[in-house]
Amino acid sequence: MRTKPLLIFVLFIGILTSYAFISHNNDTTNPFVVVLDAGHGGKDGGKYHKGLKESDIALSITLKVGAILEKDPNFKVIYTRKTDVFVNLFERGAIANRADADLFVSIHCNAHNSQAHGAETFVLGLHANERNMEVAKKENEVIFLEDNYEENYAGYDPDSPESFIGLSILQAEYLDQSIMLAGLIQNNFVNKLKRKDRSVKQAGFIVLHQSYMPSVLIETGFLTNKKEGAYLNSKKGQNDMASSIADAVKSYRKNLALATSDAQNPVITQDEIEEAIESTEEKIYEGVIFKVQLAASSRKLEPKPYNFKGLEEITWNKEDTLYKYYYGETSDYNKIQLMKTYAREKGYPSSYVVAFRNGEKVKLADVLSDEPQ
Ligand SMILES: [Zn+2]
Repeated sequence: MRTKPLLIFVLFIGILTSYAFISHNNDTTNPFVVVLDAGHGGKDGGKYHKGLKESDIALSITLKVGAILEKDPNFKVIYTRKTDVFVNLFERGAIANRADADLFVSIHCNAHNSQAHGAETFVLGLHANERNMEVAKKENEVIFLEDNYEENYAGYDPDSPESFIGLSILQAEYLDQSIMLAGLIQNNFVNKLKRKDRSVKQAGFIVLHQSYMPSVLIETGFLTNKKEGAYLNSKKGQNDMASSIADAVKSYRKNLALATSDAQNPVITQDEIEEAIESTEEKIYEGVIFKVQLAASSRKLEPKPYNFKGLEEITWNKEDTLYKYYYGETSDYNKIQLMKTYAREKGYPSSYVVAFRNGEKVKLADVLSDEPQ
């Protein structure tokens, strides 16, 4: 009878802990680190078409994205390359990992033997179809130019058409965030620039497999399409693409900050706490009201969420000269335990449960020594 709520509670703590682990840097005082990866370079020019060279165009767009982000003090930009040099795929991810970056953005151009056109943004995953596999395979081919690729990319067989790179465990954790960023990028391409939407896709890109943070690979467009190739090779086209990408990165950071409001730690959402409360067994103490005491202060604060790190259901009372502020109000001891955990994650690390009977504060230990009804 008592095991179930405990188990759910333990699971819940597990969720909180893993969220804290997954989310990188929601602390708004630290810069948000973005690794910009210009595809190819040096002996690997990527795709060529009638004088257009993928590695040059990708680098140009990448540097422009970086220049925009660097103007914003919220961001720190790291490049995998800033000049026309060869960097192997393995090293690109390693650069991002060493920097403990918040995002990895790889920028490329596409090619096809048709007049196909449009922009698409990939997150790591299984090749959903042959076309996605072809795109990934072409981008992965560069490993043939690397020494010891068999060692660096264990398990990848580029000769096999079925060969794919599955999700690494960490990329699976970051998939939602990667998809969010990819969606923001595609939205800008389509709505601001009127590029043809080839949508957000999944495929097995080795370069995305190496990083342990939310990561996307952008195919900005087709060099082989007459109009699009010229656009991507133009200053205007590169500026447009760069500002769309930079804007999306900024929106992504904002969304993430909003999701955690001004909490000091990345926390689960209000919906998730409610869901956990709903699925937890009740443990009712009749005639008792539990609350989570957040803080005591000589200052009177409006009991509004913005004064309490986004927490709702705030009440207060005055005891002697101090105002005491409480979160939650319930006769269910299991529920208040969850609410306490939530309050602690939201930035009240020393909050604790208090009990009231007939409006008077009573000792919690005395209440708990009675059996619940
Ligand atoms: Zn490429």
